[in-house]
Amino acid sequence: MREYLVWAEEKQIALGHFNISDSEGFKAVVEGAKELDVPVIIGVSEGERDFIGVQEVVALVRTEREKGLPVFLNADHTYSVEKVREAVDVGFDAVIIDGAAKSFEENLSMTSECVAYAKSKGSKVLVEAELGFIGQSSKILENIPEGVSEETQTKPEDAQRFVEETDIDLFAPSVGNIHGIVKGGEPNLNIERIKTIASVINVPLVLHGGSGITDVEFVAAIEAGIRIIHINTELRVAYKEGIKEGLKSGEIAPYKFLAEGVEEMKKVVQDKLKLFNKL
Ligand SMILES: [Zn+2]
Repeated sequence: MREYLVWAEEKQIALGHFNISDSEGFKAVVEGAKELDVPVIIGVSEGERDFIGVQEVVALVRTEREKGLPVFLNADHTYSVEKVREAVDVGFDAVIIDGAAKSFEENLSMTSECVAYAKSKGSKVLVEAELGFIGQSSKILENIPEGVSEETQTKPEDAQRFVEETDIDLFAPSVGNIHGIVKGGEPNLNIERIKTIASVINVPLVLHGGSGITDVEFVAAIEAGIRIIHINTELRVAYKEGIKEGLKSGEIAPYKFLAEGVEEMKKVVQDKLKLFNKL
């Protein structure tokens, strides 16, 4: 995954990160990436990984990688050091310790503990941390979540100190992005802030809360230095809508009524991958 991030930096593109909860989601992301011949990252939140199975999802990704696709697995938004340890031990490629809702000092110490654990295991796992709150739920929201404002966007000097002191591999800032899709419209991304943060830190930047952001903004964010973009809510909506259609057929074979969910999800994956990889 580290090598593909260097490659993304050289090409000035971003790797797509897509969340899944089950083997259908896995199929949608893998087929989407394979057909476009691009690397891809699969993310599972704590809830998602408990549903699909922690070891099971590692096995799925490894199998696909052995078959030739550069696909990597990320333990998305992990809220405790214990859960980070579990992800490292079972063989995830990357893990996010999310202390964004905590104070700067608490976030820093929790993140450092995770980095130390990964290193002590001699693991190749990449550790990502977030600084600046962007909300926590991947769903359709009525309003911008409480605690998210221009004030809570990540300050470049904080980003610099945080990255240096924790020695993390990936950094997720708050730059106008929000988890979930805000019904009344998303705030604009702070492109200048992304550029400034990218200029003062030496690790790749990750953009969370990609659902609901416009194509024009994505392109500007990639130009500014974003190297991984997370999409979840849009996939969930597409999957559900597809399955609803599938069920209308009266089919009782799951692989038949679920297939439309996979197709709809795959369309979203491919649209984003084309944009992020400049295809
Ligand atoms: Zn996220």
